Formats: sequence, structure tokens, C-alpha cells
Amino acid sequence: MWSCFGKFVIPCTSQYQKFLKLLLAKDQLIPRNTASSATEALQFLTSGYAEDPVKTLKEGLIGARSKSPVMLQNLKFFSLCAHHMLPFYGTATIVYVPKKHIVGLGKIPKALTALSHRLQLQEQLTEQMANAVFKALQPESCAVILDGFHFCLAMRGAQEKEARLTTLALRGKWKKNPGSFKNLAKILK
Ligand SMILES: [Zn+2]
Repeated sequence: MWSCFGKFVIPCTSQYQKFLKLLLAKDQLIPRNTASSATEALQFLTSGYAEDPVKTLKEGLIGARSKSPVMLQNLKFFSLCAHHMLPFYGTATIVYVPKKHIVGLGKIPKALTALSHRLQLQEQLTEQMANAVFKALQPESCAVILDGFHFCLAMRGAQEKEARLTTLALRGKWKKNPGSFKNLAKILK
């Protein structure tokens, strides 16, 4: 059932299965195929472990004719939090200053999906996406900004229903001098 996770180990799998079994036994109205449908949904939402975002981005490299910044905004991402396996979703902005390459636009959301279809922390997802862009494109600088709504923060625990999490990862010159990124971000907004 969990073979798609490879080396990744889900802790307390038997506890989770037992809970699901008890829950399904409690309510006769829950459809019989819920356990298998839920498993299929989880397999789809964690299918990113089989994908390599750097490889995806490298497949779309094109020679750069200018070194002007490139910014892709309003990309939607969906993920599951690594602690509770509850969804978090939001928008992503990817910015880079090319050195030798730009990348076909369709490859960026594909790479983001490869990373977001895993059990994630938004902070980690942001860093991993920045690493992938920086490794594949070798730009002068790049930045990844994610803005996310977390169901585990809204539905349980703190029950913060409006809170959003914004995370930023910088690479290259922008990482060495974050002030230079701030100036650019002001112009582009
Ligand atoms: Zn969580």
C-alpha cells in the first residue's frame, strides 16, 4: 500500500489503519470504498517522491538573450503537512535573474508540483524549490516566495482561521545581499 514512498517511513502506520477501521465501523453511512479511495488520494498527493524537480527544469532550459529578471506569479500549489497530513495550499512566486539560461514556463509549476506532492513543511518546500531553480538554471540570483493557508492551523490546535504563512528563500547574489532583492521586489509589485 505504501510502496510508492520508497525509503520514506510513515510512523505509526498500524495505529492510523486501526483508527480508520474503527471510524469506518462506527458509521454505516460511510461508503465501503472510502479506505481505498483515501489511500488512492494519498498516493496521488505524495506522488512527487518519484519526480526529480531539477531534471524537470533542466529539460526546459533555453539560452538566455538578456539578463533581465524573470518573475512568474500566482502559481497555485497544494500540499500535505508532514505533521498531521492535513492540506495546506496557496500561491507561489518565482523570480530569477538569468545568467546563461531561462526555462520554459511550464516546467516551473511542474517542478513545484513534484515538491509539493510530498509530505511537507512550507518552509522546507520554499527552500527546496529555491535549491532546484538555482541548481538547474544556475542563475545570478533567484527567489521563491510562498503564501499558504494551513488547515492544521485553522481546524485544530490554535484554530487560527484567517492566518497565512509567507516564506521566502533567496539564492545567489540576493542571498548574499538581501537588500538588492528588496529593491527589485518593490519595483515589480
Ligand atoms: Zn500540520
